[in-house]
Amino acid sequence: MSYQIKNRKIISKAVEYSVAYHCNLRCSGCSHMSPFLSKKFPSIESFYSDITQLGEGLHAKEIRLCGGEPLLNPEINSFIEIAKRAGIADSISVTTNGLALHKMNDDFWENVDSLVITLYPKVHLEENLIEGFKRNAKQSNTDLKLFSNPYFRTTIVTQPHPKDLITDLIFKTCDNVHLHHCHTIHEGKFYKCAVPPFLPEYLAKMRIADYDPVQDAFDIHKAKDIFNELKAFLLSSETMEACRYCLGYLGKSQAHCQLRPEVISDPALDKITRKEYFDFNRLNKLLDDLVEGETDEVKDTKNSEKITNPKCSVIIPTYNRSRYLPKAIDSVLRQTFQDFEIIVVDDCSTDNTVQIIQDFVDGFSKTSLNALI
Ligand code: SF4
Repeated sequence: MSYQIKNRKIISKAVEYSVAYHCNLRCSGCSHMSPFLSKKFPSIESFYSDITQLGEGLHAKEIRLCGGEPLLNPEINSFIEIAKRAGIADSISVTTNGLALHKMNDDFWENVDSLVITLYPKVHLEENLIEGFKRNAKQSNTDLKLFSNPYFRTTIVTQPHPKDLITDLIFKTCDNVHLHHCHTIHEGKFYKCAVPPFLPEYLAKMRIADYDPVQDAFDIHKAKDIFNELKAFLLSSETMEACRYCLGYLGKSQAHCQLRPEVISDPALDKITRKEYFDFNRLNKLLDDLVEGETDEVKDTKNSEKITNPKCSVIIPTYNRSRYLPKAIDSVLRQTFQDFEIIVVDDCSTDNTVQIIQDFVDGFSKTSLNALI
């Protein structure tokens, strides 16, 4: 995760704010858990107080007003105006499913800078409505983006996983935090992503009470030196507690569908666990993208003999332990069970770790080199 710093402010790509926690859809896989949340709007006063205080240490390229479904909030225009006045972001964006967009008045169109409409299969938005939205956007100079979203990545699970190496990988590869900066303001707190503040209500439906979002929060109003404290918070590489309930960008894709009412009352009816929904192929691909300086021989080996879907992945994290690494890799290679891949997560070692791994790659035709830096 990296940020620019300007005038003692962290420059973030975005900050997000849920102006309606609930939604008029009940999409399976919603990373904001909206189908499980009760109908609720935040207060305008707390929004103003949070963004003005946070703005002392952070500036965002855009503030995304989202949800749930943000257009359900009857005060949406006031939220947009206040966000403008507070100056926390260069641009005010609203993310919507479009179902209530035809009810928005001229003030809405005049004030919003950017509008993202996500189109879901089987959620019909009539063509003439979409054409009308395009005309409004053109007249008011609003940047309009339409997105088709036939698939959702499975994110939130129904049973926690341990805070182990795989959970560390889930966090480290999570684009929501590290790439898109989906940093979320909620009731006086600032979070790296949108999951923590909404997780307790979802878990309560399954009578799970072991997660307190405070563990993953930055208290906007208690900070004495907001710039430095926020910088330390954002740059901390520690895996969040919330990631024990999330698959981030490493969950399997699922076709978009609406949840059955009985699952909304009891999410555990559709059991989702890391064991069943972890996408090892995607992890492989992410790791491949991070590999640098491969020899052609390694590339050929990977292309021809790559283990595309091994039954087991052995993940070895390392930093400057080249003395012990051969023993660790060797012990895995000696197992009688052979349908596996080894992923060495090298935290920028300065010793000859990469050479040691390369030696194994050269010596075993079925071994590919993956390095996560
Ligand atoms: S809870 Fe963890 S894995 Fe899930 S979106 Fe947030 S940072 Fe990413």
